[in-house]
Amino acid sequence: MGDPTGADEVFQLLSDATRLDVLRTVAVAQHENKRTGVAQLSFSEIYDRVDVDDTSKLSYHLGELTGTFLRKHEQGYAFTHAGEQLVRFILAENFRQPDDIGHVETEGGCQFCGETTLRAVLEDQYFLMYCTNCERGANAYRVRPAQVRARSGKELIESVAREQAGDLLKTRRGVCPECAGRIETDVLAAADLPFADETPVSYVTASECQACLRFLSLPLPIAAAYHPEAVSFHWEHGLDILDSGVWEFNQYLYDDRWTSEQVEADPETYRVDLERESSTLRLFLDADATVTHTERVSRRGGRDV
Ligand SMILES: [Zn+2]
Ligand SMILES: [Zn+2]
Repeated sequence: MGDPTGADEVFQLLSDATRLDVLRTVAVAQHENKRTGVAQLSFSEIYDRVDVDDTSKLSYHLGELTGTFLRKHEQGYAFTHAGEQLVRFILAENFRQPDDIGHVETEGGCQFCGETTLRAVLEDQYFLMYCTNCERGANAYRVRPAQVRARSGKELIESVAREQAGDLLKTRRGVCPECAGRIETDVLAAADLPFADETPVSYVTASECQACLRFLSLPLPIAAAYHPEAVSFHWEHGLDILDSGVWEFNQYLYDDRWTSEQVEADPETYRVDLERESSTLRLFLDADATVTHTERVSRRGGRDV
């Protein structure tokens, strides 16, 4: 039974077409068996489906996969976490380059110049949105080949918006959207960032997964907009935060309707104001961008009643 501990040994186990075929076969069989709920495949079922010379060869390959990619039960074989993740990656063909999408124009906002038409492109594996006026970036997010393959133009933009919103909800609660490891978030002054002179943003979040090192950064008002109270406040005022692209919020940064400031040094406390129509939701956040309390205020700064 294979029990490799190093990543090099783990990947070595996979450099064999029969073994990859076994993993695909188990996934396809699970898919076909979903009505019966049987998630395991017996030795003979695998043998019937995989192109392999004899049972002893299959036995050898299964032995190599078991432990790292497959789990062996009385009734048959099922995936480990690693096997599950890897086989989904293989079936989705996310190892291939996505097709180019050209340029897609869409509505949004530029925090630097206030332009409301953006251009989406795929560049360096990222989904990038540029301002059509000043050409500066309005959003950059990952896309995966399967995501691009299944959609084009507006649909792809919509899928990025939804995925990013889901990822930001998890990130806010400290769960890595990639590996489910622990995310830690700090609030940083935008003045320390390279584009400080041009951005209207005062503070940003910097979130990093302690396990896989995935990094996400957002203007603090945008990060705060995913708090349930902010989602509900905007819903009441005709804006669905969870169904919007992050790039649509840039306009509010440019107009100073969404602002952030530090109000206390010890303990570090930040105040975010999100203005919508005649009222404002005010959120107070601590050093790791956790919302400690919220209040609704009227346009003149008084408390809402
Ligand atoms: Zn611009
Ligand atoms: Zn992670």
